[in-house]
Amino acid sequence: MAGDWRAGLGAALAGRRKQHLYRTRRVTQGAPGADVIIDGKRYLSFCSNDYLGLANHPEVVKAMQQGAARYGAGSGASHLISGHSSAHHALEEELAGFTRRPRALLFSTGYMANLGVISALAGRLSACDAQAGSDVVLEDRLNHASLIDAGLLSGARLLRYAHADMADLEKKCVAKTDRRMIIASDGVFSMDGDIAPVPELSRIARRHDAWLMIDDAHAFGVLGKTGGGTQEHFGLTVEDVPILVGTLGKALGTFGAFVAGSEELIETLIQQARSYIYTTALPPAVAEATRVSLRLAQSENWRREKLRALINRFRTGATHLGLNLMNSVTPIQPLLTGDNETTLRISEQLYARGILISAIRPPAVPKGRARLRITFSAAHDVQQVDRLLEALAELAPVR
Ligand SMILES: *Cc1c(COP(=O)(O)O)cnc(C)c1O
Repeated sequence: MAGDWRAGLGAALAGRRKQHLYRTRRVTQGAPGADVIIDGKRYLSFCSNDYLGLANHPEVVKAMQQGAARYGAGSGASHLISGHSSAHHALEEELAGFTRRPRALLFSTGYMANLGVISALAGRLSACDAQAGSDVVLEDRLNHASLIDAGLLSGARLLRYAHADMADLEKKCVAKTDRRMIIASDGVFSMDGDIAPVPELSRIARRHDAWLMIDDAHAFGVLGKTGGGTQEHFGLTVEDVPILVGTLGKALGTFGAFVAGSEELIETLIQQARSYIYTTALPPAVAEATRVSLRLAQSENWRREKLRALINRFRTGATHLGLNLMNSVTPIQPLLTGDNETTLRISEQLYARGILISAIRPPAVPKGRARLRITFSAAHDVQQVDRLLEALAELAPVR
């Protein structure tokens, strides 16, 4: 039998290829930016998450070099053993300050932050008492895979409500018979680019005595006047979003993630979040680089303004061309293309013209909802957006 299933892997891979679902990687050379080099050739890239153009900022790079010179290449241990350096500590304090929360806690990745938070706070049995019955985790159907996986891993009852459908969420809240309840949502949905209805989520969470967790991976540094994310975008208070997750590998251009919230929340995570405890701390040099990029993200408003102008130019041009835009004002501007084959073909045609845009197919998006996921960065300029529009005018299907 063992031989059979191993032989079956090849057949499954071939099946994937036939359905145009096969994934391959392109090997890039050099730093991320508006242009990337692949096989020695320059491509105009519209698929990074480096929204503010900080990943290759000279000051950020210098801080990482100096950090490595001072702290070494790696942290040497997990945070709870001896890996928690003054660089990590300073970054946590600065993240807490920026998010106006009592504490912030660094995680190695956003994926791990989400696993850590949900499985520390919810489970089959409540962590605080032995009362039987599982907790409830309510999640938007289009949440990032790491939030969904976190809900599953926690052992709590995972209920998924229809995308941004507050009536459906409300209905599922009422069905609750158990003790602890967490409502978790992306702040900006990673494949659609739309913004979650955070004010309504907050009201519903309050009404049902649930804890609201917002994963602001695509909003942190991007939305709001100072880059504070969805909370600032909507003019909400810290109390409206008691559990905030942000990632550092997107707008901040480095690597890692954090959770910000109350003293008790952060201390609970330090004691209980397994993806925090049982893993090596980030290289301190990464924390040093992030401290600089956090400062730049806060102070250099022009990056957000430029980004917004580029997005507006694209949407105006794409609307004029009759392209199938989605309901997004964020740097994530997908063009819905529908079937896998068409999507892959257009992506290849764009590539042949020196434009890099990834074809997003199931299971990252629902079946029949494949798309070209275009993302913008402050590193782009107006001419590059126009070049993209010219190529799309020829290649992309219209409504
Ligand atoms: C990218 C992303 C993550 C994962 O963050 P990493 O630091 O890349 O692991 C989590 N949540 C959302 C919504 C994301 O877009």
